[in-house]
Amino acid sequence: MKIYLDNAATTQLDPEVFSAMTPYLLEHYGNASSHHAHGREAKRAIEQARNTIASLINADPSEIIFTGGGTEADNTALLSAEGRRVITTPLEHHAVLHALNKPHYLSVNNKGEIDLAELELLLGDGVPSFVSIMHANNEIGVINDIEAIGRLCESYGAIFHSDTVQTIGHYRHDLQNLKAHYITCSAHKFHGPKGVGFLYCRKGTNLSQLLHGGSQERKLRAGTENIAGIIGLAKAFEIVCRDIDEHKHHIQGLKSRLVAKLKDLPGITFNSTSATEDSLYTVLSVNFPPTGIDLLALLDENNISVSGGSACSTGSASHVLQAIKSDRSKDTVRFSFSKFNTIEEIDYTFEILAGIYNTVAA
Ligand code: PLP
Repeated sequence: MKIYLDNAATTQLDPEVFSAMTPYLLEHYGNASSHHAHGREAKRAIEQARNTIASLINADPSEIIFTGGGTEADNTALLSAEGRRVITTPLEHHAVLHALNKPHYLSVNNKGEIDLAELELLLGDGVPSFVSIMHANNEIGVINDIEAIGRLCESYGAIFHSDTVQTIGHYRHDLQNLKAHYITCSAHKFHGPKGVGFLYCRKGTNLSQLLHGGSQERKLRAGTENIAGIIGLAKAFEIVCRDIDEHKHHIQGLKSRLVAKLKDLPGITFNSTSATEDSLYTVLSVNFPPTGIDLLALLDENNISVSGGSACSTGSASHVLQAIKSDRSKDTVRFSFSKFNTIEEIDYTFEILAGIYNTVAA
Protein backbone atom coordinates (compact mmCIF):
# COMPACT_ATOMS: atom_id res chain seq x y z
CA MET A 1 0.00 0.00 0.00
CA LYS A 2 1.30 3.48 -0.97
CA ILE A 3 -0.14 6.21 1.19
CA TYR A 4 -0.18 9.88 0.28
CA LEU A 5 -0.74 12.20 3.23
CA ASP A 6 0.91 15.32 1.83
CA ASN A 7 -2.12 16.97 0.24
CA ALA A 8 -1.19 20.47 1.43
CA ALA A 9 1.85 20.18 -0.87
CA THR A 10 -0.20 18.99 -3.82
CA THR A 11 -3.10 16.68 -4.60
CA GLN A 12 -3.85 13.87 -7.00
CA LEU A 13 -5.53 15.02 -10.21
CA ASP A 14 -9.19 14.05 -10.18
CA PRO A 15 -9.85 11.63 -13.11
CA GLU A 16 -12.96 13.68 -13.96
CA VAL A 17 -10.71 16.74 -14.29
CA PHE A 18 -8.30 14.81 -16.49
CA SER A 19 -11.19 13.82 -18.80
CA ALA A 20 -12.34 17.43 -19.05
CA MET A 21 -8.79 18.55 -19.92
CA THR A 22 -7.82 16.00 -22.58
CA PRO A 23 -9.91 17.42 -25.48
CA TYR A 24 -8.10 20.74 -24.91
CA LEU A 25 -4.73 19.02 -25.32
CA LEU A 26 -5.62 16.82 -28.28
CA GLU A 27 -8.35 18.56 -30.29
CA HIS A 28 -9.05 22.12 -29.16
CA TYR A 29 -5.41 23.12 -28.87
CA GLY A 30 -5.80 26.50 -30.58
CA ASN A 31 -4.21 29.68 -29.30
CA ALA A 32 -6.97 31.80 -27.77
CA SER A 33 -5.50 34.93 -29.41
CA SER A 34 -5.89 33.47 -32.94
CA HIS A 35 -8.89 34.63 -34.97
CA HIS A 36 -9.58 31.33 -36.77
CA ALA A 37 -11.97 28.60 -35.60
CA HIS A 38 -9.35 26.81 -33.47
CA GLY A 39 -8.52 30.07 -31.71
CA ARG A 40 -12.15 31.04 -31.22
CA GLU A 41 -12.91 27.65 -29.66
CA ALA A 42 -10.03 28.10 -27.18
CA LYS A 43 -11.18 31.64 -26.35
CA ARG A 44 -14.78 30.50 -25.83
CA ALA A 45 -13.68 27.71 -23.47
CA ILE A 46 -11.50 30.08 -21.43
CA GLU A 47 -14.33 32.59 -21.04
CA GLN A 48 -16.69 29.80 -20.01
CA ALA A 49 -14.18 28.66 -17.37
CA ARG A 50 -13.89 32.25 -16.15
CA ASN A 51 -17.68 32.52 -15.82
CA THR A 52 -17.86 29.23 -13.92
CA ILE A 53 -15.18 30.31 -11.45
CA ALA A 54 -16.66 33.78 -10.98
CA SER A 55 -20.10 32.37 -10.21
CA LEU A 56 -18.63 29.93 -7.65
CA ILE A 57 -17.12 32.78 -5.63
CA ASN A 58 -19.91 35.28 -6.33
CA ALA A 59 -17.67 37.60 -8.32
CA ASP A 60 -17.79 39.21 -11.74
CA PRO A 61 -15.94 37.32 -14.52
CA SER A 62 -13.87 40.46 -15.19
CA GLU A 63 -12.44 40.09 -11.67
CA ILE A 64 -10.78 36.72 -12.45
CA ILE A 65 -7.27 36.75 -13.93
CA PHE A 66 -5.77 33.37 -14.80
CA THR A 67 -2.21 32.85 -13.61
CA GLY A 68 0.46 30.18 -13.54
CA GLY A 69 -0.53 29.20 -9.99
CA GLY A 70 -0.65 30.56 -6.46
CA THR A 71 2.84 32.06 -6.35
CA GLU A 72 2.24 34.19 -9.43
CA ALA A 73 -1.17 35.30 -8.14
CA ASP A 74 0.32 36.32 -4.76
CA ASN A 75 3.30 38.08 -6.39
CA THR A 76 1.00 40.03 -8.72
CA ALA A 77 -1.25 41.17 -5.89
CA LEU A 78 1.73 42.35 -3.84
CA LEU A 79 3.27 44.17 -6.79
CA SER A 80 0.06 46.19 -6.82
CA ALA A 81 0.66 47.49 -3.27
CA GLU A 82 2.47 50.42 -4.94
CA GLY A 83 3.82 52.78 -2.32
CA ARG A 84 1.51 51.64 0.46
CA ARG A 85 2.91 50.35 3.73
CA VAL A 86 2.50 46.55 3.72
CA ILE A 87 1.25 44.91 6.90
CA THR A 88 1.57 41.14 7.04
CA THR A 89 2.32 38.23 9.38
CA PRO A 90 5.47 36.14 9.82
CA LEU A 91 3.44 33.01 8.96
CA GLU A 92 2.74 33.84 5.34
CA HIS A 93 3.90 31.52 2.59
CA HIS A 94 7.21 32.45 0.93
CA ALA A 95 5.19 33.37 -2.19
CA VAL A 96 4.20 36.40 -0.11
CA LEU A 97 7.14 36.96 2.24
CA HIS A 98 9.83 36.78 -0.44
CA ALA A 99 7.94 39.27 -2.61
CA LEU A 100 7.97 41.94 0.11
CA ASN A 101 10.52 44.58 0.97
CA LYS A 102 10.58 45.46 4.68
CA PRO A 103 6.90 44.95 5.55
CA HIS A 104 5.48 45.55 8.99
CA TYR A 105 4.95 42.21 10.75
CA LEU A 106 2.05 41.73 13.13
CA SER A 107 2.90 39.67 16.17
CA VAL A 108 1.57 36.13 16.53
CA ASN A 109 1.02 34.08 19.68
CA ASN A 110 2.26 30.51 20.13
CA LYS A 111 -0.70 29.20 18.17
CA GLY A 112 0.07 31.50 15.27
CA GLU A 113 -2.94 33.71 15.94
CA ILE A 114 -2.83 37.44 15.28
CA ASP A 115 -4.41 40.12 17.42
CA LEU A 116 -6.97 42.16 15.49
CA ALA A 117 -6.62 44.99 18.03
CA GLU A 118 -2.95 45.34 17.03
CA LEU A 119 -3.96 45.54 13.37
CA GLU A 120 -6.64 48.11 14.15
CA LEU A 121 -4.23 50.27 16.14
CA LEU A 122 -1.82 50.25 13.22
CA LEU A 123 -4.46 51.03 10.61
CA GLY A 124 -5.65 53.88 12.80
CA ASP A 125 -2.39 55.83 12.31
CA GLY A 126 -3.63 56.99 8.90
CA VAL A 127 -0.69 55.65 6.83
CA PRO A 128 -2.09 54.25 3.53
CA SER A 129 -1.81 50.51 4.02
CA PHE A 130 -1.91 47.24 2.13
CA VAL A 131 -2.72 44.28 4.37
CA SER A 132 -1.66 40.78 3.30
CA ILE A 133 -2.90 38.03 5.60
CA MET A 134 -3.44 34.41 4.60
CA HIS A 135 -6.71 32.59 5.23
CA ALA A 136 -5.18 29.36 6.56
CA ASN A 137 -1.58 28.44 7.16
CA ASN A 138 -0.25 25.55 5.08
CA GLU A 139 2.02 24.14 7.82
CA ILE A 140 0.07 24.41 11.06
CA GLY A 141 -3.48 24.93 9.81
CA VAL A 142 -4.26 28.03 11.88
CA ILE A 143 -7.17 29.98 10.37
CA ASN A 144 -7.46 33.77 10.29
CA ASP A 145 -10.85 35.44 10.41
CA ILE A 146 -10.51 37.08 7.01
CA GLU A 147 -14.08 38.35 7.09
CA ALA A 148 -13.31 40.41 10.21
CA ILE A 149 -9.95 41.51 8.77
CA GLY A 150 -11.68 42.57 5.54
CA ARG A 151 -14.23 44.66 7.45
CA LEU A 152 -11.47 46.30 9.47
CA CYS A 153 -9.47 47.12 6.34
CA GLU A 154 -12.55 48.53 4.66
CA SER A 155 -13.33 50.80 7.59
CA TYR A 156 -9.79 52.23 7.54
CA GLY A 157 -9.52 52.46 3.73
CA ALA A 158 -6.79 49.81 3.57
CA ILE A 159 -6.35 47.40 0.66
CA PHE A 160 -6.67 43.74 1.67
CA HIS A 161 -5.03 40.75 -0.01
CA SER A 162 -5.56 37.25 1.34
CA ASP A 163 -3.59 34.20 0.25
CA THR A 164 -6.46 31.72 0.10
CA VAL A 165 -4.44 29.01 -1.66
CA GLN A 166 -5.02 26.44 1.10
CA THR A 167 -8.72 27.15 1.55
CA ILE A 168 -10.13 27.69 -1.94
CA GLY A 169 -11.87 24.43 -2.75
CA HIS A 170 -12.16 23.49 0.92
CA TYR A 171 -14.20 26.43 2.24
CA ARG A 172 -16.78 28.58 0.49
CA HIS A 173 -15.70 32.08 -0.50
CA ASP A 174 -18.31 34.71 -1.30
CA LEU A 175 -16.73 37.90 -2.58
CA GLN A 176 -19.91 39.88 -2.00
CA ASN A 177 -19.47 39.28 1.74
CA LEU A 178 -15.70 38.98 1.99
CA LYS A 179 -14.23 42.49 1.83
CA ALA A 180 -11.02 41.44 0.11
CA HIS A 181 -9.50 43.27 -2.84
CA TYR A 182 -7.40 40.28 -3.89
CA ILE A 183 -7.57 36.56 -3.18
CA THR A 184 -5.45 33.84 -4.75
CA CYS A 185 -5.99 30.29 -5.92
CA SER A 186 -3.93 27.32 -7.07
CA ALA A 187 -5.66 24.42 -8.84
CA HIS A 188 -3.28 21.68 -7.70
CA LYS A 189 -4.40 22.10 -4.08
CA PHE A 190 -7.85 20.72 -4.89
CA HIS A 191 -7.28 17.95 -7.46
CA GLY A 192 -6.70 20.25 -10.42
CA PRO A 193 -3.53 20.47 -12.51
CA LYS A 194 -0.28 22.10 -11.40
CA GLY A 195 0.92 25.43 -12.75
CA VAL A 196 -2.45 27.14 -13.05
CA GLY A 197 -4.54 29.27 -10.73
CA PHE A 198 -6.22 32.63 -10.59
CA LEU A 199 -6.04 36.00 -8.96
CA TYR A 200 -9.32 37.60 -7.95
CA CYS A 201 -8.95 41.38 -8.19
CA ARG A 202 -11.95 43.45 -7.10
CA LYS A 203 -13.30 45.82 -9.76
CA GLY A 204 -11.74 49.26 -9.51
CA THR A 205 -8.66 48.02 -7.61
CA ASN A 206 -5.20 48.75 -8.98
CA LEU A 207 -3.50 45.80 -10.67
CA SER A 208 0.16 45.96 -11.65
CA GLN A 209 1.38 43.70 -14.40
CA LEU A 210 3.95 41.09 -13.41
CA LEU A 211 4.39 39.51 -16.85
CA HIS A 212 4.82 41.71 -19.91
CA GLY A 213 4.32 40.77 -23.55
CA GLY A 214 1.07 39.98 -25.36
CA SER A 215 -2.33 41.41 -24.56
CA GLN A 216 -3.83 38.29 -22.98
CA GLU A 217 -6.08 38.59 -19.91
CA ARG A 218 -7.09 42.12 -20.94
CA LYS A 219 -3.41 43.14 -20.93
CA LEU A 220 -3.13 42.23 -17.26
CA ARG A 221 -1.14 38.98 -17.64
CA ALA A 222 0.88 38.36 -20.77
CA GLY A 223 1.56 34.87 -22.13
CA THR A 224 -0.38 32.29 -24.14
CA GLU A 225 -3.14 30.91 -21.96
CA ASN A 226 -2.72 27.40 -20.52
CA ILE A 227 -6.01 26.31 -21.97
CA ALA A 228 -6.09 22.70 -20.73
CA GLY A 229 -4.92 23.94 -17.33
CA ILE A 230 -7.64 26.58 -17.16
CA ILE A 231 -10.31 24.03 -18.15
CA GLY A 232 -8.92 21.69 -15.47
CA LEU A 233 -8.93 24.46 -12.87
CA ALA A 234 -12.58 25.32 -13.55
CA LYS A 235 -13.64 21.65 -13.58
CA ALA A 236 -11.76 20.87 -10.35
CA PHE A 237 -13.29 23.94 -8.70
CA GLU A 238 -16.78 22.96 -9.84
CA ILE A 239 -16.36 19.46 -8.40
CA VAL A 240 -15.00 20.55 -5.02
CA CYS A 241 -17.64 23.25 -4.62
CA ARG A 242 -20.36 20.73 -5.48
CA ASP A 243 -19.10 18.15 -2.97
CA ILE A 244 -17.58 20.46 -0.34
CA ASP A 245 -19.72 19.37 2.64
CA GLU A 246 -19.24 15.69 1.92
CA HIS A 247 -15.46 16.12 1.53
CA LYS A 248 -15.20 18.17 4.69
CA HIS A 249 -17.09 15.55 6.68
CA HIS A 250 -14.92 12.72 5.32
CA ILE A 251 -11.60 14.52 5.76
CA GLN A 252 -12.41 15.87 9.21
CA GLY A 253 -13.34 12.30 10.21
CA LEU A 254 -9.95 10.99 9.05
CA LYS A 255 -8.09 13.73 10.85
CA SER A 256 -10.02 13.26 14.11
CA ARG A 257 -9.37 9.52 13.94
CA LEU A 258 -5.61 10.07 13.62
CA VAL A 259 -5.65 12.69 16.40
CA ALA A 260 -7.47 10.30 18.77
CA LYS A 261 -4.97 7.52 18.07
CA LEU A 262 -1.91 9.78 18.36
CA LYS A 263 -3.09 11.02 21.73
CA ASP A 264 -2.45 7.46 23.04
CA LEU A 265 1.27 7.76 22.29
CA PRO A 266 3.21 9.42 25.12
CA GLY A 267 4.92 12.76 24.51
CA ILE A 268 2.98 13.76 21.39
CA THR A 269 1.89 17.37 21.04
CA PHE A 270 0.07 19.20 18.28
CA ASN A 271 1.09 22.55 16.83
CA SER A 272 -1.27 25.50 17.02
CA THR A 273 -4.98 24.66 16.86
CA SER A 274 -4.26 21.88 14.40
CA ALA A 275 -5.82 19.05 16.47
CA THR A 276 -9.08 20.96 16.94
CA GLU A 277 -12.04 21.53 14.68
CA ASP A 278 -11.17 25.25 14.56
CA SER A 279 -8.24 24.59 12.26
CA LEU A 280 -7.84 23.93 8.56
CA TYR A 281 -9.40 20.47 8.39
CA THR A 282 -6.97 19.18 5.78
CA VAL A 283 -3.84 19.75 7.93
CA LEU A 284 -2.52 18.16 11.12
CA SER A 285 0.85 19.26 12.52
CA VAL A 286 2.30 16.86 15.08
CA ASN A 287 5.39 17.08 17.29
CA PHE A 288 7.03 13.77 18.16
CA PRO A 289 9.53 13.55 21.01
CA PRO A 290 13.10 13.34 19.71
CA THR A 291 13.71 9.74 18.66
CA GLY A 292 17.18 10.11 17.18
CA ILE A 293 15.85 8.65 13.94
CA ASP A 294 14.70 10.33 10.75
CA LEU A 295 10.97 9.85 11.14
CA LEU A 296 10.09 11.26 7.73
CA ALA A 297 12.59 8.96 6.01
CA LEU A 298 11.32 5.91 7.91
CA LEU A 299 7.73 6.71 6.99
CA ASP A 300 8.89 7.14 3.40
CA GLU A 301 10.56 3.71 3.52
CA ASN A 302 7.20 2.36 4.60
CA ASN A 303 5.53 3.98 1.57
CA ILE A 304 3.89 6.75 3.59
CA SER A 305 4.43 10.22 2.10
CA VAL A 306 4.20 13.04 4.63
CA SER A 307 6.26 16.17 5.13
CA GLY A 308 7.99 18.10 7.88
CA GLY A 309 6.35 21.34 6.81
CA SER A 310 5.99 23.19 3.56
CA ALA A 311 7.20 21.37 0.44
CA CYS A 312 8.57 24.66 -0.90
CA SER A 313 10.97 25.04 2.02
CA THR A 314 12.21 21.45 2.39
CA GLY A 315 15.66 21.35 3.93
CA SER A 316 15.45 24.69 5.72
CA ALA A 317 14.13 25.37 9.21
CA SER A 318 10.47 26.25 9.05
CA HIS A 319 9.88 29.99 9.46
CA VAL A 320 6.36 29.15 10.63
CA LEU A 321 7.46 26.83 13.46
CA GLN A 322 10.09 29.37 14.44
CA ALA A 323 7.55 32.18 14.53
CA ILE A 324 5.25 30.26 16.89
CA LYS A 325 8.27 29.21 18.99
CA SER A 326 7.42 25.54 18.58
CA ASP A 327 9.81 23.28 20.55
CA ARG A 328 12.54 22.64 17.98
CA SER A 329 13.97 19.66 19.86
CA LYS A 330 10.91 17.76 18.61
CA ASP A 331 10.33 16.15 15.22
CA THR A 332 7.44 17.79 13.40
CA VAL A 333 5.38 15.85 10.91
CA ARG A 334 2.65 17.45 8.84
CA PHE A 335 -0.09 15.07 7.79
CA SER A 336 -2.44 16.53 5.20
CA PHE A 337 -5.50 14.78 3.91
CA SER A 338 -7.75 14.67 0.85
CA LYS A 339 -11.01 13.13 -0.25
CA PHE A 340 -9.05 10.22 -1.72
CA ASN A 341 -7.65 9.09 1.66
CA THR A 342 -9.33 6.22 3.49
CA ILE A 343 -9.80 5.04 7.08
CA GLU A 344 -7.61 2.01 6.26
CA GLU A 345 -4.76 4.34 5.26
CA ILE A 346 -5.07 6.28 8.51
CA ASP A 347 -5.07 3.09 10.58
CA TYR A 348 -2.09 1.68 8.69
CA THR A 349 -0.16 4.95 9.09
CA PHE A 350 -0.80 4.89 12.82
CA GLU A 351 0.28 1.25 13.08
CA ILE A 352 3.59 2.06 11.37
CA LEU A 353 4.11 5.13 13.55
CA ALA A 354 3.33 3.24 16.74
CA GLY A 355 5.70 0.46 15.63
CA ILE A 356 8.55 2.93 15.05
CA TYR A 357 7.77 4.56 18.33
CA ASN A 358 7.74 1.36 20.37
CA THR A 359 11.00 0.17 18.79
CA VAL A 360 12.71 3.42 19.70
CA ALA A 361 11.26 3.47 23.22
CA ALA A 362 12.23 -0.20 23.88
N1 PLP B 1 0.38 30.06 -0.77
C1 PLP B 1 0.20 28.98 0.01
C2 PLP B 1 -0.44 29.16 1.36
C3 PLP B 1 0.61 27.72 -0.40
O1 PLP B 1 0.44 26.66 0.39
C4 PLP B 1 1.23 27.60 -1.68
C5 PLP B 1 1.73 26.28 -2.16
O2 PLP B 1 2.25 25.50 -1.40
C6 PLP B 1 1.38 28.74 -2.47
C7 PLP B 1 0.95 29.96 -1.99
C8 PLP B 1 2.01 28.68 -3.83
O3 PLP B 1 1.16 28.07 -4.77
P1 PLP B 1 1.74 27.42 -6.11
O4 PLP B 1 2.36 26.11 -5.73
O5 PLP B 1 0.54 27.21 -6.99
O6 PLP B 1 2.70 28.38 -6.71
